Parts: sequence; C-alpha cells; structure tokens
Amino acid sequence: MTKEERQEAIFDLINVERIRQDKKWGYPQYKSMMDWAAILTEENGEASQAALNWKFAGESKQEIIKEAIHTAAVAVAWADAIMSETVIEEGPI
Ligand SMILES: [Mg+2]
Repeated sequence: MTKEERQEAIFDLINVERIRQDKKWGYPQYKSMMDWAAILTEENGEASQAALNWKFAGESKQEIIKEAIHTAAVAVAWADAIMSETVIEEGPI
C-alpha cells in the first residue's frame, strides 16, 4: 500500500466515523469550546490507553488505530462547529 493509498484509507475511516458520530450525537452540535476540548481530550486519552495496552499488555494495534480515528473525527467536528458558528458561549460556572 502506498502512502497515498494509506492516507486515502485513513481519511475514508475518518469520514465514516464522522457520519457515525453525527448519527449518534446529531448535527449540528451546539457545544462550548470547553466541551469540545474535553471530548477531544477524552478520545485522545482512549488512544493513549490503547497504546499502553499494546505496549504492556500485548493487545492489538487495531484499537490504537480505532481511537486515533475517533480523535481525528472529533477534531474535524470541533473545527466544523467553529466554522459553522455553532460553538456556544460558556454558561455561568
Ligand atoms: Mg473512542
């Protein structure tokens, strides 16, 4: 598989995940910047956990790929929300 083929496959996976997330959570999503940051951090944490599980527990790299795709798809959703101006203001603390 060439680099271009691999990257096309990755972007296809991100698009499929974007569709899955939109079906699950709705579109557009009206979230605050801090909510988006928390969601992205949560997904990145899952990717990190999968990497640790691969390194120390001998688990498959497939879970790392899956969580990296989740992370990328959330980053795309966050950028989309900002560009479509659906990011809402923070409420009172
Ligand atoms: Mg995940």
